[in-house]
Amino acid sequence: MLIIFFSLQAKAQSAKKLHFKAILVDTHNDVLSSSVLEGKDISHRLASGQSDLDRWKEGGLDVQFFSVWTDKIARNKGGFFEDANQEIDSLEIIALRNPFRMTLATNYKQVKKGIRQKKLVALIGVEGGHMIEDDLSKLDSLYNRGMRYMTLTWNNSTSWATSAMDEAQHQDSLTRKGLTHFGKQFVRRMNDLGIIVDLSHVGEQTFYDAIATTAKPVLLSHSSVWNICPVFRNVKDEQIKAVAENRGVICINFYSGFLDSNFAKKMDQLEGSEGKRIKDSLGENYDAAKLNEIWTKYFSERLQPYRPTISKLVDHIDYIVRLVGDDYVGIGSDFDGVSSLPTGMDDVTKYPLITEELKRRGYPNRSIKKILGGNVLRVMKANMK
Ligand SMILES: [Zn+2]
Repeated sequence: MLIIFFSLQAKAQSAKKLHFKAILVDTHNDVLSSSVLEGKDISHRLASGQSDLDRWKEGGLDVQFFSVWTDKIARNKGGFFEDANQEIDSLEIIALRNPFRMTLATNYKQVKKGIRQKKLVALIGVEGGHMIEDDLSKLDSLYNRGMRYMTLTWNNSTSWATSAMDEAQHQDSLTRKGLTHFGKQFVRRMNDLGIIVDLSHVGEQTFYDAIATTAKPVLLSHSSVWNICPVFRNVKDEQIKAVAENRGVICINFYSGFLDSNFAKKMDQLEGSEGKRIKDSLGENYDAAKLNEIWTKYFSERLQPYRPTISKLVDHIDYIVRLVGDDYVGIGSDFDGVSSLPTGMDDVTKYPLITEELKRRGYPNRSIKKILGGNVLRVMKANMK
């Protein structure tokens, strides 16, 4: 018994050692729109939320893509583009306040340098083509401000690309699907500039059109596997194979509703019955923030018993590895952008649990290093200048 105990301890120790030695890259975090814009300072350990500089260090994170995101309705009078610039301003301020702990990178050399200096390397990912407002010059402008990936759509379609939500749920109201001629121009321009084409959130037709257009490996910054959890924006086997052929990478989203079909089903049930009741109680012109607040509290309590395990999260990684090999999967947590995470995965200090589970399943160190960051670094290098 004692021998088993010591052997488990030794295994946990070696997983920990590997985790902190490996380069960990997370391609999606929403802390800018969820905390920073509300005035919270992530330089210090926060009592709420899922991320800050202290906790990233504790979780062994080396590289973070910060999601610049705004809803279908812009926050500022100036529109989506102004929203994007405001969020980038806020990220720059955090980096300026923490020059010894964090560095904002815009090219691959800077990424490597920041990792060597043991700083958190921050990069900008813009979530949703709506933020460039159909304007090629705004794409260039956000590139000049540091944008190094752009998710072609968020849940809302643009005039040039249809989203997964619209392709799957609002088919009747769509006049067309996929990328337009203009949309393809955006993709080519992104390739030329060195902006990674991010295909999370896009519809299947947009996905295949973009894969056929891009000359560089693509990223899916926060998407999980359809065959394990069939929700509208998870990726199907044929898509996973197409990403492998393109030498891109799919980074697994940690949201319970994208990982576990039982959780997703339960949530749908609650949304249908209770969601409508709560919405109705707020009246016709309800405040979206208020609804979100009630929703998060009410539903997270009720869904608590249905949260998946870390093992379920790793099943998604495992699935992609078994289908196409260990070169095409990574980590895209969506921390601070989701209302439920697997049990134990409460914040960014918990990344080592993934390494532990991969080790437990017999993954070789070489493979684990690719999954934690090596694969995304390869895609970054292939795209960025
Ligand atoms: Zn998202």
